[in-house]
Amino acid sequence: MTEGKEKRISGLLRENGIRATKGRVEVLELFLKAGRPLAQMQIMDMLGTKLDRASVYRILNAFAEAGIIHMAYVDGRHRVYELPDKCSGRNCHPHFSCRNCGMTACLEGFKISFKGALGKGFVAERQKVLIEGLCPNCRE
Ligand SMILES: [Zn+2]
Ligand SMILES: [Zn+2]
Ligand SMILES: [Zn+2]
Repeated sequence: MTEGKEKRISGLLRENGIRATKGRVEVLELFLKAGRPLAQMQIMDMLGTKLDRASVYRILNAFAEAGIIHMAYVDGRHRVYELPDKCSGRNCHPHFSCRNCGMTACLEGFKISFKGALGKGFVAERQKVLIEGLCPNCRE
């Protein structure tokens, strides 16, 4: 990890009132490096044996509570989180998920307007639109 990146990570944690432990820094670094939404399972795979499941779970919850990440969508029992660099928890965008490898992508240019579809008296709080399919690697 370069010094600039390390500073950015510890700064982000400090700003949000989270103490920079080794595990937290590693998880946040994965999100910054990936540049796309990550599920807990994918984070576990990337970390190998560095952190156990419960620790990763706790870190993700703490990050989500602090607003460092938010839930992009839920896939079965898996929560998929992302950094709020292109969206916010309340104003997110649709996502793509590969059903074979679990690769995820943000569909930023794709806005779904549900104006008029929601009946009177309903309030939309966030959209959680998920397109499922195969990524270019898995299509071959
Ligand atoms: Zn989002
Ligand atoms: Zn795939
Ligand atoms: Zn996204």
